[in-house]
Amino acid sequence: MTTILEQGNISIHTENIFPIIKKALYSEHEIFLRELVSNAVDAIKKLSMVARSGEYSGDISAPEIEIKFDKDKKTLSIADTGIGMTADEIKKYINQVAFSSAEEFITKYKDSAAADPIIGHFGLGFYSAFMVASTVEIDTLSYQEGAEAVHWSCDGTTQFELSASERNTVGTTITLTLMEGEEEYLEPARIRQLIKTYCDFMPVPIKIEGEVVNKHEAPWKQSPSSLTDEDYLEFYRYLYPFQEDPLLWIHLNTDYPFVVNGILYFPKLKPDIDITKSSIKLYCNQVFVTDNCEEVVPRFLLPLRGVIDSTDIPLNVSRSFLQGDRTVRRIADYIAKKVGDSLKALYRDDPAKYIASWQDLGNFVKFGSLNDDKFKEQVKDILIFRTTAKLGEAEEAPKVEVQTDEGDAWSEVADNKPATDAKGNFYTTLREYLERNKEKHENRVFYATDEVSQATYIELFKSQGLEVLSMDSFIDTHFIPTLEREYSDVKFVRVDADLDDTLLDKEKQSEIVDPATNKTRDDEIKEMFEQAINRPRVNVKPQALKGEGAPPAMVLLPEEARRMQETMAMIQQQEMQFPDDHVLMVNTAHPLIQNLLGLSQSTIIGADGGSSPAGDLAKMICNQVYDTALMAQKGFDANGMKTFVERSNTLLTKLTER
Ligand code: ADP
Repeated sequence: MTTILEQGNISIHTENIFPIIKKALYSEHEIFLRELVSNAVDAIKKLSMVARSGEYSGDISAPEIEIKFDKDKKTLSIADTGIGMTADEIKKYINQVAFSSAEEFITKYKDSAAADPIIGHFGLGFYSAFMVASTVEIDTLSYQEGAEAVHWSCDGTTQFELSASERNTVGTTITLTLMEGEEEYLEPARIRQLIKTYCDFMPVPIKIEGEVVNKHEAPWKQSPSSLTDEDYLEFYRYLYPFQEDPLLWIHLNTDYPFVVNGILYFPKLKPDIDITKSSIKLYCNQVFVTDNCEEVVPRFLLPLRGVIDSTDIPLNVSRSFLQGDRTVRRIADYIAKKVGDSLKALYRDDPAKYIASWQDLGNFVKFGSLNDDKFKEQVKDILIFRTTAKLGEAEEAPKVEVQTDEGDAWSEVADNKPATDAKGNFYTTLREYLERNKEKHENRVFYATDEVSQATYIELFKSQGLEVLSMDSFIDTHFIPTLEREYSDVKFVRVDADLDDTLLDKEKQSEIVDPATNKTRDDEIKEMFEQAINRPRVNVKPQALKGEGAPPAMVLLPEEARRMQETMAMIQQQEMQFPDDHVLMVNTAHPLIQNLLGLSQSTIIGADGGSSPAGDLAKMICNQVYDTALMAQKGFDANGMKTFVERSNTLLTKLTER
């Protein structure tokens, strides 16, 4: 029989603290384990501090926490090799401190907790054990010389008992007799799973059934120089198994003005990113808190992955409070700035790598710029575009000023050779593009959204020495208007929107063919096509194009109208239909068009009311020219394709007739 040394009342003001704890202040009872294991880790850390200061000479070389089960007795115990407690300390820390902090916590949150969940549930500490246990016992031996082992027990009333304990090693064992309905915590598999979730990176080995079950090393707490790329990748694969490897990562490491550690990874962004959900894991001192920390990470960084660990984020507060918290906002700003700085440093130090991952990284940078003005400012100089220009040959290499991480010093990209991607494409910033093309087309930016389907257009621009930027990511449609707001005089024009004056041959002015009506040759061509294709909504526009390679006709989609249609399609969540209203630009300088006019006019001259074979042929060729131009725009529906194939065959037959 144990001799009871002391019995007493726990001084506590709210008599109903236990019912509240038991009725689950927390929706997840399971967090008791995290609280108790955290206490054990703290106790172990304290002992090693005491040992380092020379106050303790015992062995601290093998710290560990061991979790044991006794199904018959319905007990679960957590034993640590920590600092232990004396009877006085138990009275002070458990009876007073733990109770009063638990009490304070509960009175503060009992009403609000359900409606507005508390982020980390931290604060209840030791007494969270009573969520699952009917009796809690402590067996502990303090490291202090001559200390005696103590046993404390409390059955969930405000009464406690202190007696001698048989424990003979320094440390503490907490034994819980589980309440009915909480038997799941007698299952080693369940406890293992909880340890994996909450305690995986706690810095002490945690043993279950003789096996260490946690990883117990937190890479984000290590110094970046001690980690290899493979270490970072391995950690990513560990956190996000079966996912594509990330593009790059950032190691956060500050102690001042607040403690923030972490590793953030850039995954490939997919068009269906859910920008409301975060998969960054929040830790506090290596203890897992949550994996939805939308309040802590700036919204635009939510697509990132990885870990943020901060002891400065208040966790025993509600989520809505957290959003308004000043420190949290500053931490969020810090993270955002750090991400921007790292990207800039990468661009400065390893432009080839930056460019190699740009296709994906760019989406992220654009996404960030769309959502955060500060970030937009920060990255505007490292926002690059693939260009058709061969920059290394004729032009100056792009120089970009990069604000360095260390201070406010600005440095320029030293490398004078522009880096290219694997396909040998060059990249430019918008500012350089505008500067380079100022003479030729001030404030106009030509871009293509699909290098394959817009190849004819791109070729035409290139052949006239015009530079075209590639804007082919899913985010660019949203991004172009942002750039236009940013560079207020600048207009973005897709290569198939409108032909720039520089592409037109002004010398080949259309001559007047009928002085009485002022009718020009262009008017005749327009009429010929209008009659032949017979589509009132297609605007036929004769223009003389420069260059021999220019096609006889092109279908153009005016920029504004096309954008409007894109927006409509997006709102209705449909693919954009090819618009019935479009421009058919007919290249009056092309021999085919000239021949065609001759052919059709031979009808007019020779005709006597009815259609002539030459007229039929001219009409057919007009349609063929139109369809070919449409095809270069991907504008065919099934029926159009059928007509095109049939006509092509008829046409070829006619042309081969002798
Ligand atoms: P907190 O950990 O936030 O201080 P708790 O209620 O969890 O609050 O614990 C109260 C105190 O009890 C701790 O500060 C610590 O001094 C003591 N304590 C709890 N668990 C242990 C343990 N396993 N070993 C030594 N001391 C402990």
